[in-house]
Amino acid sequence: MIYLDANATEPLRPEAREAAMDAMVIVGNPSSPHSAGRQARAMLDHARRSVSAHLGVHPDNCVFTSGGTEANTLAVRGLGKGRRRLVGATEHDAVRKASDDTDWVEVLPVLSDGRIDLAVLEQKLADRSQETLVCIMLANNETGVINPIREVSRLCRAAQATLHVDAVQAVGRIPVSLAELGADSVALSGHKFGGLKGAGALVLAGNGPVVVPPMQAGGGQERGRRGGTQALPAIASMAAALDAALARPVDPGALRDRLETTALQQGALVCGVDAPRLVNTSCLLLPGVRSEAQLIALDLAGFCVSAGSACSSGKVGGSHVLHAMGLGELASNALRVSLPWNVEVRHVDEFILAYGKMAARRKAG
Ligand code: PLP
Repeated sequence: MIYLDANATEPLRPEAREAAMDAMVIVGNPSSPHSAGRQARAMLDHARRSVSAHLGVHPDNCVFTSGGTEANTLAVRGLGKGRRRLVGATEHDAVRKASDDTDWVEVLPVLSDGRIDLAVLEQKLADRSQETLVCIMLANNETGVINPIREVSRLCRAAQATLHVDAVQAVGRIPVSLAELGADSVALSGHKFGGLKGAGALVLAGNGPVVVPPMQAGGGQERGRRGGTQALPAIASMAAALDAALARPVDPGALRDRLETTALQQGALVCGVDAPRLVNTSCLLLPGVRSEAQLIALDLAGFCVSAGSACSSGKVGGSHVLHAMGLGELASNALRVSLPWNVEVRHVDEFILAYGKMAARRKAG
C-alpha cells in the first residue's frame, strides 16, 4: 500500500508518537492541584508554549480543541457572535457549516484559479453598518491553492473587520505567523502535520487573554473558552509533531512537478495551476473519467488517494471547491494526490506508472 493522501491525515511522526506515549502514562488531570495534576499541567503548559511560539501568539491565546473542526467552529460562533460573516466559497465544511445562524452568512466567490476574489471582498466590506467576521482559509485542502491572506487582512483592517483564517492544511507545511498574516485568529489541527488525531487549536492575536464565548462551558478549562478535560496525549503529540515538522521541513515540490508533468502528458489538467499552491498537493482532472472510477482503479493498484476532501461517510460527491472555481462537469473527474511528510521517490514513481496505465485504459475503453 502506498499512502498519498496526506491532506486527509498525515502519518504519525515518531516524535509525536513518543510524546503521546509519555503523556499516556501520566495519571493526573491538568486541572487538579495535587502533584499528579501538576505533572499533567506541566506537560500541557509545555505543549501550549511550544505551539504558541511557532504561531507567534501569547500562550494565553492558544485554546486547545479536539481538532480543526472544533477550532473553526469556535472561531465562527465565538468570534462571529453578533457579527455578519463573510465566508470564502472554497472553505472547508468545518467553516461553511459552522454558522449557527445562516442569515448572517454571505459567500465570497473565488477566481478561476481558486484564490479569493479580493474585489468582491472589498466591495462587501464597504458596508460598515454591521460588525463583520471574515473567514478565509490559508491553503485549500482539495487543490492546495494558497490565498493572499496578507491582502485580505489589509482590507479587513481598513474596514475594521475581524479575520479568521483556517490554516489547517498550511501549518507545518508553510510558515504561519498570525502577525505576518495579519489575522485575528487561526485554526490548526495536529493530525494534519503528523500528530495524533483528536487535538487542534484556535490561536488568537492579542497580548492578554482574548475572550471568546465558549461552545461548551463545562469546567471552564482553556480560560473559559473551551470547557472539558484536555486530551493530553493528542495535545502533546501535536506540539511534538509541529516541532519536528518545522525543524525538518520537507520539500516534495520536485516530486509533485514530475507527477503533474506525467499527468499532463496523459491528458489531465492540473487544478489551480496558475496560483501559488502547497507543494505536496495536486488536484488532477482527467476529462471524461469519473473520480470514483479513478479511485477504485488506483485503490486496486495499491494507492491511497482521494477525490477531494475526505468526508465522514467516505462518499465521493461533486466538490463545492471545484464548482466554485467554475469547473462544471470536470469537477466530477478530479483526483487529489497529496504527498505525506515521509514520501519516497519510489512511491511517486510507482504512482506515475499506475496513473499512466489507468488513464490509457480509460482512454482506450
Ligand atoms: N479545515 C481544513 C482546511 C481541513 O482540510 C480539515 C480536515 O480535512 C479541517 C478543517 C477539519 O480538521 P479536523 O479533521 O481536525 O476536524
